[in-house]
Amino acid sequence: MGIETKNKAITCILCPLGCKIDVLKKKGTIIVKGAKCAKGKDYAIKEITNPVRVLTATIRVRNGILPLLPVKTTLSIPKKQVFTCLKKLYQLEVKAPVKMGTVIVKSIANTNSDIISTRGIDSKH
Ligand code: SF4
Repeated sequence: MGIETKNKAITCILCPLGCKIDVLKKKGTIIVKGAKCAKGKDYAIKEITNPVRVLTATIRVRNGILPLLPVKTTLSIPKKQVFTCLKKLYQLEVKAPVKMGTVIVKSIANTNSDIISTRGIDSKH
């Protein structure tokens, strides 16, 4: 039985200092080097254990003054779910008009995060 070891070098994005952080996960222990504060340390640990992202994308609009509607997740979703969510979004088409903040998809891919429009789009006619 091998010892699970995982190394990751990340740049902290929580403040303009952009600390370079090394994270080592070995046998259930996580060692963080390079973070100048506790928030950065927590961020680094999350990046190696369960990285999450706010997903932004565009979906097709029928009969709109613009062809694409920008959308985003209401919550950060697991990074490993991003591709699945994008595949679902690229199959969608909404009909104009669409108001900003409209829920386009409820709990996409069982993430508990909705997809909402980040702008409104009027219809052509
Ligand atoms: S570790 Fe702390 S000080 Fe460094 S970039 Fe992240 S938030 Fe800023």
